[in-house]
Amino acid sequence: MLKIDIEKCIGCGECEEVCSFGAISVVDDKARVDEGSCTLCGTCVDTCPEGALSIEKEGGEELDLSSWKGVWVVSEIKNGLFSPVTFELLGKARELADDRDVPLTAILMGYGVRDKAEELISRGADRVIVVDSERLSNFIDDAYARVLAHLAKEEMPEIIIAGATATGRAFIPQVATILETGLTADCTGLEIDEESGQLLQTRPAFGGNLMATIICDTRRPQMATVRPHVLKALEPDTSRKGEIVNFEPPFELLESRIKVIESVTKEQEGPGLTDAEIVVTAGRGLEKKENLKLVEELARCLEGAVGATRAITDAGWIAHSHQVGQTGVTVAPKLYVACGVSGAIQHLVGMQGSEIIVAINKDKDAPIFDVATYGIVGDVKEILPILSKKICKERGLD
Ligand SMILES: Cc1cc2nc3c(=O)[nH]c(=O)nc-3n(C[C@H](O)[C@H](O)[C@H](O)COP(=O)(O)OP(=O)(O)OC[C@H]3O[C@@H](n4cnc5c(N)ncnc54)[C@H](O)[C@@H]3O)c2cc1C
Repeated sequence: MLKIDIEKCIGCGECEEVCSFGAISVVDDKARVDEGSCTLCGTCVDTCPEGALSIEKEGGEELDLSSWKGVWVVSEIKNGLFSPVTFELLGKARELADDRDVPLTAILMGYGVRDKAEELISRGADRVIVVDSERLSNFIDDAYARVLAHLAKEEMPEIIIAGATATGRAFIPQVATILETGLTADCTGLEIDEESGQLLQTRPAFGGNLMATIICDTRRPQMATVRPHVLKALEPDTSRKGEIVNFEPPFELLESRIKVIESVTKEQEGPGLTDAEIVVTAGRGLEKKENLKLVEELARCLEGAVGATRAITDAGWIAHSHQVGQTGVTVAPKLYVACGVSGAIQHLVGMQGSEIIVAINKDKDAPIFDVATYGIVGDVKEILPILSKKICKERGLD
């Protein structure tokens, strides 16, 4: 909490002025803090000319950060298949572990998953901790959180990263709470700071208007979740060797108030946006909703999925689930065709990992051309029908 030394405070008001959160007011020539509004950012502490302000760390003693070692990746597995984000995380975690000169451990939780551990080693892990229990056959967030937190307390890794997926979002915050540490959700970049060795966790902030790099400098482990399709996976290398450790969780860790009665798999029509190898995206350059069919037709010819910019999901031309970008989904297909899309930063962060980007825009200076592999300067309404016709013919489609 923020402490004010009343003896030292001269009531100059500099702290009140610099506080962006309106948490400090000077009353009767003395600074006062509204703890509910104070975010402990420390700006006032640095500004006070009298050194009257300080942040008192809760929880008493400071942690010995040097006793926390190693990088952990929390894997995700469903129906015997790892989700792609697991391999993407391992690819980046390999770099982080090498930078820190520590081993990379993958955590594998589930039921009947033991024989999948080798696959994690082939993707970069040095070591896999397998927690295989019938009670983990369905994802139950509190049990998963308790098991992971227990392992982290025992082994004290310095970094834990997980996918910012429905699963990761459900239980990783609980782990951070149990471990009394910080968590940076939805990161788009992770690096090791050369000087301090701390994890630099980058994520969009203030509604995507700036990229913030966050550190967790007083607690361990440093925890982050990363969106799928942002990081690059390593190619599998089956010659890699690693250690597999089995952990039998005690019953009390697996207890839960949640009981799964039934799991229902929803069938998806056509390729899902996030998994599609080809995405054709519609932007405001289509001019009106009726022209959306030009993009749908090209997507059909290419057997791809239809994406959209926020401009057109906000206009109600298409459902929000098609939105690519900061407040939509992140995609990294083999081919991304942007039709009448300007290339705003909030859109680019959701698609710039695509292998080949084709942009069609009538403005030759549109920012989308800065990231495009191929650019077509022209009117989408004229170009799209020509492309669709040619591609459909080539592929023998109607
Ligand atoms: C907090 C926040 C979050 C956001 N999140 C997202 C997000 O997740 N995804 C997203 O997409 N946006 C997001 N946005 C909005 C983003 O800033 C842009 O406004 C949006 O991406 C623009 O969409 P657009 O490219 O379709 O439209 P515009 O920017 O209006 O661009 C239209 C383009 O079409 C071209 N054009 C016009 N007519 C034609 C034609 N006949 N033929 C060819 N080209 C033509 C124009 O030259 C122009 O380049 C967010 C914004 C904020 C503030």
